[in-house]
Amino acid sequence: MSTVVGIDLGTTNSLVAYMENGKPRVIPGTEGNLLVPSVVYFDVEKGAVVGDKALEELLRHPERTVYSVKRLMGKAPDDVIEDKKVLPFQFVDSKQIIRISIGSRDFTPPELSAFILKDLKQRAEKFLGQAIEQAVITVPAYFDDAQRQATKDAGKLAGLDVLRILNEPTAACLAYGLDKTKEALVAVYDLGGGTFDISILKLKDGIFEVLATNGDTHLGGDDFDHRLVDFAWKRIEFRLGALDRGKLFPRLRRAAIEAKHHLTENNSAWIAVSLPEYKFSEEIPISRAEFDRLIDDLVQKTLACCRQALADARLAPEQIDVVVMAGGATRVPCVRQAVKDLFGRELHTEINPDEVVALGAAIQAEILSGGITDMLLLDVTPLSLGIETFGGVMSRLISRNSTIPASATETFTTAVDNQTSIDVHVLQGERELAADNRSLARFQLRNIPPLQAGLPRIEVKFLIDANGILNVSAREQRTGKEASIEVKPSYGLTDEQIEQMLLESIEHADEDFRKRLLIEARVEADGILAATEKSIKSSAYKKLSAKEKGSIEEAMAELRKVSSSDDHKLIRDKIDLLNEVTHHLAEMMMDQAVRAALKDKRIEEV
Ligand code: ADP
Ligand code: MG
Repeated sequence: MSTVVGIDLGTTNSLVAYMENGKPRVIPGTEGNLLVPSVVYFDVEKGAVVGDKALEELLRHPERTVYSVKRLMGKAPDDVIEDKKVLPFQFVDSKQIIRISIGSRDFTPPELSAFILKDLKQRAEKFLGQAIEQAVITVPAYFDDAQRQATKDAGKLAGLDVLRILNEPTAACLAYGLDKTKEALVAVYDLGGGTFDISILKLKDGIFEVLATNGDTHLGGDDFDHRLVDFAWKRIEFRLGALDRGKLFPRLRRAAIEAKHHLTENNSAWIAVSLPEYKFSEEIPISRAEFDRLIDDLVQKTLACCRQALADARLAPEQIDVVVMAGGATRVPCVRQAVKDLFGRELHTEINPDEVVALGAAIQAEILSGGITDMLLLDVTPLSLGIETFGGVMSRLISRNSTIPASATETFTTAVDNQTSIDVHVLQGERELAADNRSLARFQLRNIPPLQAGLPRIEVKFLIDANGILNVSAREQRTGKEASIEVKPSYGLTDEQIEQMLLESIEHADEDFRKRLLIEARVEADGILAATEKSIKSSAYKKLSAKEKGSIEEAMAELRKVSSSDDHKLIRDKIDLLNEVTHHLAEMMMDQAVRAALKDKRIEEV
């Protein structure tokens, strides 16, 4: 049986773990080190260098070293404007895709992460003496579909078949064996190098449901380092004033990290600043109490996130049964104390917090490889699920890779006046158009009261239970009329078919998007033409000037002419034009409606 490894692909550090005689274990590097800094350096001759060696190069060759790539995964350039300000990389100018230029080459975030994954893969292969081809990779619970997909792509590029993308807090729970608890509310407090995540999970019969997540994407152990650097700088500034703090920063930071780690075990430490070229050397003493004060506001900030997550899950801190600590920065004693005080209970800290996620990933890997059979499989939906809406477009209710059980509700309405029934067409797949996806089921909701189009409120609910069975129901809210159907979503779909559907959706992404825009424009054109025709018969229309009437008719004719063309931009232009020339008419009709309403009211009041 080939080994499936578990990988924690972290913002600061990454780890790879496997199951050894029924127990998870982090695989060490040749020097015994367990953590691989998530840093990639591009050596002119050797190519990509990952981990501790790359971290060293960060001081010497910052222009050829990248870190914190996880922040960019699955993002569009517009999403990372803030990150770009602090990450000193050479971003390639593009609206569509993030690329970082290093030397003469450009890399996407998944490509950069793939270098780290490749390194972890090789580490495992060397240690285990066998080829490693399959892995479980963890991601934060709040990662969206694009971010999960980017992580999976990175795995593929590294030559790994990613069997599962697993939520980091779920992995931490698995490492503590919490899946064996019948029912519990769990809080996972994860403070890493640069990010803080709090996740509130509901655990029931081996299934983890994410009730709420919160956090701060720019808060972590790095900020503690910065506070220590500030502290040290204040003490030595008067002697180094002429020197550039920015230039000295990497070395100051290194000294600060050492002191921080020392303070975890001891009541006092020294920040050892040594700058031989300036014949400067100083050991600045700092007590743990002083350090606690320096970072107190940061710790308080994490607590505020915890309170918000609890509020979102509608829970009080006392209702949480188990608190799990993850991330290297949760080693700091005052952080532990603060979290303990907030929840009013003991914390799970027995497992090394920087290893706990990777260890859980290894357990999940073993479950998937069939090595553990007495555990329930935590599952995710392999493809998105949704329904067909106007114009044959797929409207997604549950995205692929959502952990199950999952549920989603969306409200739809009718397309034509006096429509008394709707067809609910349940679809599975990633394509924009209904016809390109797999049809899972169809059913009808009848006896909707005959109303003007757009007025009925039809709530469609998707519910996937723990066994992967999908139940779809539709309900008209005014009348309470209801219809539902049970579907087995993954039944009959092999892994190859899923793979094929995903490949097609990537290949056709551009084309699909254009088709969707076209259909939406056509539907809107039909709608606005119908509405305008109706208003031409109104008394308000008669009050318009001949010139206004003329331009409305002309705009309608122009829209009619292009409404079945293949150019969505052209249709949109004509819709805008018609909207513009009917603006005055719409205002007058609105006035009339308001006046009529007031009149009615007066009669009623009399
Ligand atoms: P990430 O999840 O972001 O990859 P980690 O979980 O590996 O990060 O956490 C890294 C952070 O933990 C760093 O800021 C590091 O300095 C901090 N850390 C590691 N060990 C200790 C320690 N003994 N005391 C205090 N902080 C620590
Ligand atoms: Mg982490």
